[in-house]
Amino acid sequence: MEILKKGSRGESVKTLQNALHLMPDGIFGSLTEEAVKQHQRSYGLKVDGIVGPNTWAVLRTGEVTQLLKSKRKIKEIIVHCSATPEGKDFTVADIRAWHLQRGFSDIGYHYVIYRDGSVHKGRDINISGAHCTGHNSISIGICYIGGQTADGTPKDTRTDAQKKALLKLLKELKKLYPNATIHGHKEFAAKACPCFEVKDEYFKL
Ligand SMILES: [Zn+2]
Repeated sequence: MEILKKGSRGESVKTLQNALHLMPDGIFGSLTEEAVKQHQRSYGLKVDGIVGPNTWAVLRTGEVTQLLKSKRKIKEIIVHCSATPEGKDFTVADIRAWHLQRGFSDIGYHYVIYRDGSVHKGRDINISGAHCTGHNSISIGICYIGGQTADGTPKDTRTDAQKKALLKLLKELKKLYPNATIHGHKEFAAKACPCFEVKDEYFKL
């Protein structure tokens, strides 16, 4: 993709504006620039308002490459599953749509781990999630895609790539929030989620 900045015009600016959920008029003005900066900030990229390869990459994939520290005081890191059938892929956009339907303002989780082990950005880390009643304001919510068999029975369906990615993400989060404790959703609610014993697996972190 070509490099875009304030003053750029044309079809690729429309593509960019669509990705940013702006009205696609094909003119890169102040509004587009501000949206680009916000996006760069929320992904931990250099905030220059210029759309180069790195910014295009996160716009395309939504993949988290660098963790940002939340301005909220984080005491808990809570792991969830998406409660979707084993072997099926779902995206941040899917979950966001489900959560908007339930009346949430955005996707409820901060990070989503796909079946291929890629980690994707959900809700802005500075904003309280909507994933665990009574714990949202002090926690970060992580969700892996899966957690059920084809007939809807709770099951730990994590792929090896998801297990690796979750471990890496939790380790990195512990560096940012050394005093935060790691939990599974079911420790706080009468649910199977995330369908494995988080404490048993991550007690050393
Ligand atoms: Zn959950």
